[in-house]
Amino acid sequence: MLVSAKEMLTKAKAGKYAVGQFNINNLEWTKAILLTAQEQNSPVILGVSEGAGKYMCGFKTVADMVKAMIDELGITVPVALHLDHGSYEGAKKCIAAGFSSVMFDGSHYPIEENIEKTKELVATCNELGLSLEAEVGSIGGEEDGVVGAGECADPNECKMIADLGITMLAAGIGNIHGKYPENWAGLSFDTLDAIQQLTGDMPLVLHGGTGIPADMIQKAISLGVSKINVNTECQLSFAEATRKYIEEGKDLQGKGFDPRKLLAPGFEAIKATVKEKMELFGSVGKA
Ligand SMILES: [Zn+2]
Repeated sequence: MLVSAKEMLTKAKAGKYAVGQFNINNLEWTKAILLTAQEQNSPVILGVSEGAGKYMCGFKTVADMVKAMIDELGITVPVALHLDHGSYEGAKKCIAAGFSSVMFDGSHYPIEENIEKTKELVATCNELGLSLEAEVGSIGGEEDGVVGAGECADPNECKMIADLGITMLAAGIGNIHGKYPENWAGLSFDTLDAIQQLTGDMPLVLHGGTGIPADMIQKAISLGVSKINVNTECQLSFAEATRKYIEEGKDLQGKGFDPRKLLAPGFEAIKATVKEKMELFGSVGKA
């Protein structure tokens, strides 16, 4: 059964650890993450971007697949199915499709409009018992051509959005989606500290978790980060393992071309990456 992310994140914030959000792209991704969460006895959040939702034939296909898989695999740890960087329309579609959590990313709107739309979604999510993530201060990334420090959110704007009754808040603190450039300035802990001072118990979300050094991750958790998003890192480990399989000519040996064999090394690589992140975030044994 899917659950809202509220309880797992409240516990994480109080216990000074973070729950990983791992983005899914297909059946293998989903299965690898769910099995690892169960083996590690860790709560987990499955992230779905609007693009990935479209790729997987729509949000309903995703929600039904995840629910059936939890059932068939006997998964008992808390699992939230979460829309990542949703538009206002996308959030409504995911709610209708059976997601247990949504992110509304209104960071590109003027703050007044972000507040307005977030407020409407707070009402809907509260009524249905779903968790809602909002964002202040956009988080850069390769796709935006940003190569330097990510944007830092205004702590006062963070406080305004947090007070609307959302479940968790994503704020830019110099983090970036995708791979970090060589000259990256690192996370702005002063900004994070100021946000946490103003937002109190609100679980904070760190996007762009791929490639942030372990000591910075741990410091961010100590300053109130309770949810960390990992996407690119699973893609990189899947690609590397699949490349190795092909380059070693294994697809040409026997029935090595069978997709169940061809995709197996990548599947195992995702499991290893997720396990490593759960250990780093401190969520192992916290289900
Ligand atoms: Zn993000």
